Amino acid sequence: MKIPFVTLQNQHKMLQEPFLEKVKKALDDSSFILGKEVEEFEAAYGQFSGTTYCLGVGNGTDALKICLQALDIHVEDEVILPANTFVATAIAVSLTGAKPIIADVDAQSFNLSAKNIQQQLSPSTKAIIPVHLYGNPSPMHEILQLAKENSLHVIEDNAQAQGAQVDGKTTGSFGTINATSFYPSKNIGALGDAGAITTNNVELYNKARLLRNLGSENKYVHEIVGNNSRLDTLQAAFLSLKLPLLHGWNTERRKIAKRYAENLSGCTNIILPQTAGNSVFHLYVIRSNERNELQNFLHSEGVQTLIHYPLPIHLQPAFSYLGYGKGDFPVAETLCDEVLSLPLYIGMTDDEIDYVCEKIMQFYK
Ligand SMILES: *Cc1c(COP(=O)(O)O)cnc(C)c1O
Repeated sequence: MKIPFVTLQNQHKMLQEPFLEKVKKALDDSSFILGKEVEEFEAAYGQFSGTTYCLGVGNGTDALKICLQALDIHVEDEVILPANTFVATAIAVSLTGAKPIIADVDAQSFNLSAKNIQQQLSPSTKAIIPVHLYGNPSPMHEILQLAKENSLHVIEDNAQAQGAQVDGKTTGSFGTINATSFYPSKNIGALGDAGAITTNNVELYNKARLLRNLGSENKYVHEIVGNNSRLDTLQAAFLSLKLPLLHGWNTERRKIAKRYAENLSGCTNIILPQTAGNSVFHLYVIRSNERNELQNFLHSEGVQTLIHYPLPIHLQPAFSYLGYGKGDFPVAETLCDEVLSLPLYIGMTDDEIDYVCEKIMQFYK
């Protein structure tokens, strides 16, 4: 059996006709940048997230950067983020001129905890970026409490967790202003690059609006120096077609995760994800002491897996200027050596899940 790590084909098959209609409409209207389709998607995604405001932008990295810029975070400021995340979280901070401050992660959730953050606080700390890694929400109550005590902003990086909830409240609605990505393989993805910002704060929303469009609200008048990071009309139209399906897709992801967990519960050589039950499983990530050998074996049996992520932020060449070294964040470093992401996609069959599990157990026989 051949099992890809991810395929979007099952998801897109049923949407082909509506997608093509949207392309035709864009051609008929000659509308390609911002416009009515973008406003409609923003309203729908804001409602989905439980926030008053939503702003479509070019991608998730820009969404994070614009959140930081809207909060006026700049050179000499420090922003705390987890050692184990996709590099864009840290790059967005660097691009504002502020300093990314890395914190180790919790060994169970792989996310930041208040304790991890506490250790990195300084008089220059201005904000915290919790990442809901693999779709598993960070402990938002304790993080918000710590932020409040220290007058810090919280920016959620919700790129991997659209639709996840903590105590009935949707991720992307906890922080002062929050970012998400609609990169094609996220839980809801565009057919290209796209991202969004969510907030309940009207001033930050208005500032972010300027920051995404060269500082301009009225054509050819530019209030501030801003980015060019607008959401394409077509991408917004595609996303509007997908959004009503997202809760169902997240349910399917949870079912796949449940079957993995049931099948693999007897395999004592690996550690299964421990997610308190509310993850939307952007990824299903196991841990193994023999990760590389297991990955090679699965590959030889037709099962494609990936590693998220092989290098923690503090050991990335791009961040050597921060002066961190090996051993600084031991939990994140151990995770990088042991994590393995199993195939997970909409339309994955029970037979496919069972085959992956069978092969993992065969490796340990
Ligand atoms: C995908 C992702 C981003 C960046 O999103 P892009 O749209 O690719 O710029 C940021 N943070 C995390 C955690 C991500 O997974």
